[in-house]
Amino acid sequence: MQPSTFAKKTKIAFFSTQSYDKTFFENRNADFAFSLHFFESQLNALTVELIQDETVVCVFVNDIVNAQVIESLANKKVKIIALRCAGFNNVDLDAAKKHGIHVCRVPSYSPEAVAEHAMAMILTLNRKTHKAYNRVREQNFSLNGLLGFDLHGKTIGIIGTGNIGKAFAKIAKGFGCKVLAFDVVVDPEMEKDGVIFTNLNSLFQEADIISLHCPLNEKTKHLINENSLSLMKENIMIINTSRGGLIQTSDVIEALKKGKVGYLGIDVYEQEEKLFFKDLSDDIIQDDEIQRLMSFPNVLVTAHQAFFTKEALTQIALTTLGNIETLLHSNKLENKMAFLA
Ligand code: NAD
Repeated sequence: MQPSTFAKKTKIAFFSTQSYDKTFFENRNADFAFSLHFFESQLNALTVELIQDETVVCVFVNDIVNAQVIESLANKKVKIIALRCAGFNNVDLDAAKKHGIHVCRVPSYSPEAVAEHAMAMILTLNRKTHKAYNRVREQNFSLNGLLGFDLHGKTIGIIGTGNIGKAFAKIAKGFGCKVLAFDVVVDPEMEKDGVIFTNLNSLFQEADIISLHCPLNEKTKHLINENSLSLMKENIMIINTSRGGLIQTSDVIEALKKGKVGYLGIDVYEQEEKLFFKDLSDDIIQDDEIQRLMSFPNVLVTAHQAFFTKEALTQIALTTLGNIETLLHSNKLENKMAFLA
């Protein structure tokens, strides 16, 4: 692609930048020639002041893009908010519309990356490979405490059958699982592939493993709570690679203490913005709920890494810069899923 003259003048401020963001975006920018400015800080009401003359901001999952921040962005003449992720629950779209700021995202980059991580969490929790790895290194070759179960023949319930849920369903089918699904839209292709769409309560009652792949919104907030947990089988496995707010953490902690939840794998956490993507190994963590979660032997926490593959990062950089380039020349994106405001 030939970099346009307009693009050459456009400055983009990146927030919550990690070294790998810089590497992948600088590589892809060879095709665009934007001026990229990287800030390590999260975007919020204070750090918005870092913006000088950039007209585009590029944000990630834990940046705070509420009405107050958007008003400051508008005052600074920012024209585009480009999310370098799929989820957009952290952006006040109404406020962006009010100020005429475009918002775009990367609706699909590598659904397989996230789906494969969800399966990795299931396999780790079930077959306890993390414990076996440490055990044999200490010359402990005992199998006590490592007992797992066959995935083959078990029922997996998928909530949200978009890009990631669909990719995960294929993997689960490959393992010989019965796959139940709930979504606000039934996918006939998935039905042809043997996925059984059902209502939410039946999925809660029948599944041995539940994997969450729906977005966080007012309807899905705290979907996993005391009530839904009470419908589930004893020893249920719950996997969340979607958004932390789907789970009411205190209710899951109670269910883990009672043994109702037998396994919990979370790549996302409701209060993750204070923790994830940072090395806090010398700090005293003030969040008692995450500390309690991490104390359970049957809980696996990863720090929002499901998306983190080379293929996904390459595609994220390419789509994000492509979205910006297109929006600079027109008022919307052809890809309706990418264009939010
Ligand atoms: P998608 O938009 O392709 O699919 C979401 C699906 O959820 C859609 O089919 C939609 O109809 C369905 N849905 C909406 N409301 C629902 C409801 N109330 N109940 C049930 N289903 C509902 O999105 P995707 O690319 O599959 O991503 C899913 C989620 O995964 C994103 O919202 C994002 O939060 C999360 N995600 C996490 C990571 C990570 O690294 N952990 C990476 C990418 C995406």
